Amino acid sequence: MSNCIFCSIVEKQIPSKVIYEDDKFLSFLDIAPGSKGHVLIVPKIHAETLLDLPDEYASKILPLAKKIAAGMKKVLGFSDFNIIQNNGPLAGQSVGHYHMHIIPRYDGSELSLWTPHENDPSVTDELASKIREQIG
Ligand code: AMP
Ligand code: ZN
Repeated sequence: MSNCIFCSIVEKQIPSKVIYEDDKFLSFLDIAPGSKGHVLIVPKIHAETLLDLPDEYASKILPLAKKIAAGMKKVLGFSDFNIIQNNGPLAGQSVGHYHMHIIPRYDGSELSLWTPHENDPSVTDELASKIREQIG
């Protein structure tokens, strides 16, 4: 996609600090990191969200994240980290090309994704059943 910043990074038209590359993925340091060593993993095809990402990519990205996080840990010395993946603007996705974040956590680093709420009475067994039916 011509106006997609991550497609441009994948095509090396925009520079990035690459930490891993294979035929399906490029991984590079985030330009505005949540913590030191924050990494992104990006598929080399343009897919907007997880629901658009072909299974041949979806099935490979988590084992790859595991491999990359293990390498990052050895260099950066953290023990804890978050894997975050935003789907759609309401979920905080600012770049419309699927990507996974690996964010190291250091002592005192803060990151909060949600505030727990009281259980909503409209969240019933019937709702769970309807979702189950859709998944099949
Ligand atoms: P998200 O909010 O989940 O869409 O995350 C997009 C991420 O891409 C943010 O953490 C940005 O800092 C990062 N980002 C945007 N442009 C670049 C770039 N040119 N190089 C590296 N990271 C980028
Ligand atoms: Zn793209």
